[in-house]
Amino acid sequence: MSVTDLARSRIPNLTARDELALLARCLFTEGYDDHATGHITCRQLDGTFLTLPFDLGWNEVCGRDILRIDPDGVVIEGDGEVSRAIMLHLVLHRLRPRVGVAIHQHPRYGTIYAAAHRVPEAYDQTSAFLAEDDIALYDDYEGGVVYEDNAIKNVKALGTRNMALLANHGVLVLGDDVRQAHHRAVALEWRCRQAWMVEAIGGGIAMPAKGQAALQRMIHDDYQERPPNLWEWSVRRELRASPEILLPSSESA
Ligand SMILES: [Zn+2]
Repeated sequence: MSVTDLARSRIPNLTARDELALLARCLFTEGYDDHATGHITCRQLDGTFLTLPFDLGWNEVCGRDILRIDPDGVVIEGDGEVSRAIMLHLVLHRLRPRVGVAIHQHPRYGTIYAAAHRVPEAYDQTSAFLAEDDIALYDDYEGGVVYEDNAIKNVKALGTRNMALLANHGVLVLGDDVRQAHHRAVALEWRCRQAWMVEAIGGGIAMPAKGQAALQRMIHDDYQERPPNLWEWSVRRELRASPEILLPSSESA
């Protein structure tokens, strides 16, 4: 079981729009808080995508603000603008159809290592949950991702990996669903933060490869890369502070 009954019972049922608004809020709290807003897309069963309005910050978005776009990025439900950089997400979802959620932002510590053009070592347990060979490092600025041909080049540079440090830019994190994408985004930022601190005191010793492999096997086999209760814990934190995030039940159909 990946989520305990107690953890699940402490949060209300969430619509897909609520989940996306909560994901943005949770990640803002975790350091995904650059003044330039990033983007998140969530694939829906009917082939459309839910996304954030470019007009609002990640710490203020609510379920009612979420937009629905078609596979070409045209807004078909909701009021608000979609960033032109959504092209990267559209291409990514098209070329990697199993990706359910794509997150792009410029988080505090991930962006530092993106500036250093270096994937940081894993010094602790949470950091080691992410396999180093699942984190790409590449330059996505060449040509800009608002154009389809350059977006395709970027998706090809990512390969089959689920996370990327984008040189001098930020991060890209993918997941099958909100829970998995949330975990990867939190763990990537944590890994960069811990490494920054370890390096600030003169360096440390990375977790041995054997230990990292054991942790990755556990998180994959036991929890399908969705650590128990992390999402629920984060959702409770945000809802306690801002209960208005959720759509009124009359609007949630
Ligand atoms: Zn960006």
